[in-house]
Amino acid sequence: MVESSDPVWLVLDGYEDEPAAFGVPPYIGFHVRYVCGVLESKGIPYTYMTVDQLRRQQGRDPEATARALSTHLGVVCVAGAVVPGKYVRGTPISLNETQRLLSTLPRGMPVLMGVCAIRGWRQQGWQPVRPNLFLAVQDTDATLAHYLETGEWKHQRRTAAQWTAWAHAGAGSLAVAHHPDRGTDGRPGPLTYEVEVYQGCVRYKRGCKFCIEPKKGVPLWRTPEDIIEEVRLAHDAGVRHVRLGGMTDTYTYMAEGVRELEYPIPNPEPLAALLHGLRDDERLDLLHTDNGNPSIIAEHLEPAEAITKTLVETLSDGAVLSFGLESADPSVHEANWLNCDPGQLKEAIRLINKHGRVRGERGLPKLLPGLNFIAGLNGETEATYRMNMDLLRDLRSEGLWLRRINIRQVEGDGFQDVPSEAFAAFKHGCRTEIDTPLLHELFPLGTVLRQVHWETHDGRTRLPVHETEAHTSPSVHGRGGITFGRQLGAYPILVGVEYKIPLETQSDIIVTGHGARSITGVEVGLDPLSITQKQLEAIPGIGKKTAWRLVSDRANMLSKGNDLDLEHWLEGANVPSTDSVSHIFG
Ligand code: SF4
Repeated sequence: MVESSDPVWLVLDGYEDEPAAFGVPPYIGFHVRYVCGVLESKGIPYTYMTVDQLRRQQGRDPEATARALSTHLGVVCVAGAVVPGKYVRGTPISLNETQRLLSTLPRGMPVLMGVCAIRGWRQQGWQPVRPNLFLAVQDTDATLAHYLETGEWKHQRRTAAQWTAWAHAGAGSLAVAHHPDRGTDGRPGPLTYEVEVYQGCVRYKRGCKFCIEPKKGVPLWRTPEDIIEEVRLAHDAGVRHVRLGGMTDTYTYMAEGVRELEYPIPNPEPLAALLHGLRDDERLDLLHTDNGNPSIIAEHLEPAEAITKTLVETLSDGAVLSFGLESADPSVHEANWLNCDPGQLKEAIRLINKHGRVRGERGLPKLLPGLNFIAGLNGETEATYRMNMDLLRDLRSEGLWLRRINIRQVEGDGFQDVPSEAFAAFKHGCRTEIDTPLLHELFPLGTVLRQVHWETHDGRTRLPVHETEAHTSPSVHGRGGITFGRQLGAYPILVGVEYKIPLETQSDIIVTGHGARSITGVEVGLDPLSITQKQLEAIPGIGKKTAWRLVSDRANMLSKGNDLDLEHWLEGANVPSTDSVSHIFG
């Protein structure tokens, strides 16, 4: 780690958010680490700051923040979401914030901005004029390295050797060591390390028309050894949780026949070597992966089944393989050169369900498919949405499980208008007819979910105040309010508990109810001697009155010098002795 008290470079993490590149906390993205890796490799001192840390400093004292920013030798900003959505734990830097940042920095200071939001904003016509500012459209890390070596800004791509060198150097960089979610050795945080496994898509010759991956050409793989070494270095820096990202399809990692075949043949060995190799390091806790291509799975069921078994064996439970169907309409499929048809999709979903539904240690199905639809593709009609809905009904009638149905609306050049009524009806049908019953099946009442990480109070967005003692101290436990949290990993369900739990801690819960896209729960293992009235009220079947009765009965028993007999205490207030109740007081 390169640090210094003299003026240094600043790496500002504006958070990356792409389906195959997670970088919004608790994730630490790979592009920002590669940038730090360049500085580490060259021995150039720098600091790392997240956009949330910058927002906080600006909120406290904008002038002092501007003065502090102006002392840097240069700034590299990684911006990764063209239009930031809704987030629980951190929001990517917006275009407005980026412009404000530029106006704060001294004229002439070298500023490099990169990663996908910069490309997107440029395409939308954003053209900031300022000396010594460079907007990278290729690899930000390689562009920075070139500038540091020559003093000249030029679009650059990294070589394979640089990829490895910067990935390894970035693994132990300040982006990890100083990341707010790393926590401390005594109190580890939820930091999850996103790894880039490969680049590109095997459909590079004739890929989905809306997608940029085919433009990257023949996929570039990293070897299992290279990735395992990077993760080993990350563990040395304190990382415990890892997601294998940067994969357009987990099943075609190092596949055979990528140049010749329309459906390259999955190759189970390299992926097994990678996953088992990562698991051999006992410091690894959570391990999740990325997307899957249903057409590849369906066309090669035998090797795909071997890969699926390895995934179930090595990944942490709750893993999701997102499948990009995009549309069930054959005309849309043809017009946009889409990746898979409904028949292939069903085959793939059946295979994942066959092996992945078993529950793991944290209470979640081990591996489930997710499903992506896109609205706005050329050729869509109202009938498209009926076909999409019919497909979902078919999947339900077969009893197949999907963890997450993502419906994304796209607009602009290359897309068409969406038939709004049919689209709205599809979205509504999907949420009520499909998502709701699935939620009840995936998270049945009474299920125990382990290691929920508590993130916010009284709202679903984490605020600066949530980091203060008033929200993190053990003394808040059981007070009135609502706590929201999630298990670590990809696409976790939001859990709400109707009392306060100290934030940035973890506990196990029992599922007590279902919301539209969230669940409610109560912690298990609560102590009858200290459980508060609010905690009692959160238990199904115990209303305000009963909770008050329990609290006063307990006070009476204890004041008379009696021990608290749990059964007698609950019976006295007519609380039924259910499995849930015994778990809660377990
Ligand atoms: S399958 Fe289609 S959407 Fe997926 S990465 Fe390849 S080209 Fe892009």
